[in-house]
Amino acid sequence: MIKFKKIAALALTAVIGVTALAGCGAGKMGDKLVMGTNAAFPPFEFTTSNGIVGEFDGIDVAIAKKIAESMGKTLQIEDMEFDGLIASLNTGKIDMAVAGMTANPERAKNVDFSDTYFVASQVILVSADNADITKAEDLKNDKTVGVVLGYTGDSIITDTLQIAEDKITRANRGIDVVQDVKNGKLDAVVIDSATGKALAEKNGLKVVEDSEVFDTEEYAIAVNKGNTELLEKINAILKEMKANGEIDALAEKYN
Ligand code: GLN
Repeated sequence: MIKFKKIAALALTAVIGVTALAGCGAGKMGDKLVMGTNAAFPPFEFTTSNGIVGEFDGIDVAIAKKIAESMGKTLQIEDMEFDGLIASLNTGKIDMAVAGMTANPERAKNVDFSDTYFVASQVILVSADNADITKAEDLKNDKTVGVVLGYTGDSIITDTLQIAEDKITRANRGIDVVQDVKNGKLDAVVIDSATGKALAEKNGLKVVEDSEVFDTEEYAIAVNKGNTELLEKINAILKEMKANGEIDALAEKYN
């Protein structure tokens, strides 16, 4: 009888063990926090041989890692096109989009945004010897302009500046249109300031700023609508990282 009890107990332990494991593997309910991003946006997210999470590194990756750790979870990163992030939140493929994403009313119809963690604006990149583009309005003089599909830069040149469609090239990565400016296929690129400055420096391009046309943009983390539980955790960590200088230190480290 004693032996039987022992075996039964062992069997029960095994069953509990397997159930627990299965529970963890179930993704959202388990030990993983899934971040969606477009890892072609340095210094916020990029790939490298020895990143802080696998091949991924950058300011956003460091912030997301901290959020996951505070929840006792492992950060998993899904790298995708920027344009697909909001849909992936809505279908539950990812838990949060951490992608240098500008919080704006249009996007807020479909997702909830955290508090702001970084302020940027758009800049224009031109070749080093370009003299005829010194402000945003100059782009309207028959200039060919590159942007990243679905970025705020795209809507600014399309809707605000109303550049003709046949003058616009939309790429999936900033570096692709930057290459086009470098080899003379495009006159300019409109892209976020921190990323633009990093890309300009690496590729020998000139940065043109225009605070009259380019408003400030506030980066925030997006979650699916109504996911207040996760949003509150994210805001708590952001608050802590802003107060203790960690975000500033990350901006310094990666710039
Ligand atoms: N801040 C810009 C936007 O939200 C670009 C973001 C990004 O490239 N990852 O559209």
